[in-house]
Amino acid sequence: MSDNEAIIQLTGRHVATTYGRFPIALVKGKGTRVWDASGKKYIDFVSGLAVNNLGHCPPAVVQAIRKQAGTLLHVSNLYHIEPQSRLAAQITQLSFADKVFFCNSGTEANEAAIKLVRRYHHDRGDTGRREIITMGNSFHGRTLGSLSATAQKKFHQGFQPLVPGFKYVPFNDPAALESALSKKTAAVLIEPVQGEGGVHVAEKSYLKRLKKLCAENGALLIFDEVQTGFGRTGKLFAYEHYGVRPDLMTLAKGMASGVAIGALAGTKKVMATFMPGTHAATFGGNPLACQAGMATLETIADETFLANAAATGGYFSGRLQELKQRFPAIREVRGLGLMLAIELDRPGAGIVQECLQRGYLINCVQDKTLRFLPPLIVTRKEIDGLIKALASILGAFPARP
Ligand SMILES: *Cc1c(COP(=O)(O)O)cnc(C)c1O
Repeated sequence: MSDNEAIIQLTGRHVATTYGRFPIALVKGKGTRVWDASGKKYIDFVSGLAVNNLGHCPPAVVQAIRKQAGTLLHVSNLYHIEPQSRLAAQITQLSFADKVFFCNSGTEANEAAIKLVRRYHHDRGDTGRREIITMGNSFHGRTLGSLSATAQKKFHQGFQPLVPGFKYVPFNDPAALESALSKKTAAVLIEPVQGEGGVHVAEKSYLKRLKKLCAENGALLIFDEVQTGFGRTGKLFAYEHYGVRPDLMTLAKGMASGVAIGALAGTKKVMATFMPGTHAATFGGNPLACQAGMATLETIADETFLANAAATGGYFSGRLQELKQRFPAIREVRGLGLMLAIELDRPGAGIVQECLQRGYLINCVQDKTLRFLPPLIVTRKEIDGLIKALASILGAFPARP
């Protein structure tokens, strides 16, 4: 029995089956590469789902974690925590936000946002504003509040009753949004680029209109940048592409290179709602995660680094467009920066399996969409390798009857 098989059996016996897993166990990573337990190497175009934006085990982050682990792992938020204060200072310097609340995941960041906007209007005596508008095909997380915000029926199945107070409108549809907004609207929550929903990019005119409508209506605007944040789209935060500043943004995935962390960042005016006792997280902003976050942010926030990620994204997107010219099974190429996808005319699971065999990790969402989220340090040569593999797989496809 190979090491992979031993681990797979152990998983099968003892780990809850919330994931359909590929039959390999990844045991080591370096840069854009990971290895399974049999020693087979893969080029990673998944990055732990947009988490390992600097690649696996980036030396500066590993060093920061090692140092902090030997100094202070955890203390309560009843006390001041220097790495937390410093990471918050960095994030606010680099974004529209003035203040940051720390938690441990994307879903928790969105829970914090949902609670904050409700309380914000409550504290201003505007108690009728209870409703949060979210977008069709959105994904905001798996805990009940974020799940209720997620406008995809398949995730709700069997978990009702959901948290009340959410209203869904189609993505990129300004007319639908305009008719949904009312004096009951507390906030609009939107991913600038939908990730799990199939890599759909918000139109610039749409987000601009959204911002204007929210401001006129008195509703808050929340960007879920859990997946788009930290350089994924070629800017530090995706909202920078649009020239539209939200009141709040939620962050997590790429924030600390793989150490669990999440955050809600926002303007002074809105964040002032969080007073002692209103919200909390025991592990939120712990010294270890925040050191990893600082080391990560120091590398990603560099202008040259971001410009390079954007250029690599442009190159990758161009190569995917070439594939589309050659293979009619590809319906569309979408994305921004290094958050890219191709939509197929058929299910993509088989292609993911074939790529795995050829040493490439890719991901499939919404059944027919192949999603590519490589580390931001991916090289053109590695992209060429994946394109070649995809071409040979697609070339063997029978034409659709
Ligand atoms: C992954 C994701 C979440 C949930 O993050 P978790 O850390 O898995 O809870 C929320 N929003 C978006 C846009 C995501 O991509």
